Amino acid sequence: MTLSIQEKTFLINSIRDINDFPKPGIVFKDITTLLADKDAYALLMKHLNKRYSTYDLSHVAGIDARGFIFGAALAQMLGIGFVPIRKKGKLPYTTVSEKYALEYGVDEVEVHIDAFSNVKNPRVLLIDDLIATGGTAYAAASLINKVGATCVEACFIMGLDFLDGQSKLREAVNVYTVIGVD
Ligand code: AMP
Repeated sequence: MTLSIQEKTFLINSIRDINDFPKPGIVFKDITTLLADKDAYALLMKHLNKRYSTYDLSHVAGIDARGFIFGAALAQMLGIGFVPIRKKGKLPYTTVSEKYALEYGVDEVEVHIDAFSNVKNPRVLLIDDLIATGGTAYAAASLINKVGATCVEACFIMGLDFLDGQSKLREAVNVYTVIGVD
């Protein structure tokens, strides 16, 4: 259930590199160009739908904010619920939070304490556009477990392979990246 080389190349070419954003030395992977291309967006979502249709999931949890775009669309295709994992201070009800280290300083993600409580034994797919150091996803997967759900897999459209952010996360949860980026 993997994409062909041609399909992967098509997706890679639909993503735009922006040099030195948000700061010098960073190559920002801009997925807005993928989203604007109906064929690329459809190819990606059909692939994810096919992969996850056999996972017996109850929810997709998307990471703020680009994880929402892929996660909410996928949840609808799978016929299951969607849960947002947000940056600190954005969610209105009681939250559980998790801090994680940035290059300089710390950041924090939150989820509603009852986010998955509408089903018994929630089985959750975590999704984001990109894994770099893996810190954000590791914190998000911890949050899912903290509020009583099982994080079945963490899925990313792109993985920055040169950073090896995936190894720590892989100790906690299965990891799937659609495209590896050198
Ligand atoms: P990390 O916690 O280091 O794995 O960073 C992952 C988060 O930062 C994801 O939400 C990504 O959307 C964002 N991110 C990190 N690096 C990049 C990059 N080079 N291009 C686009 N987004 C990035």
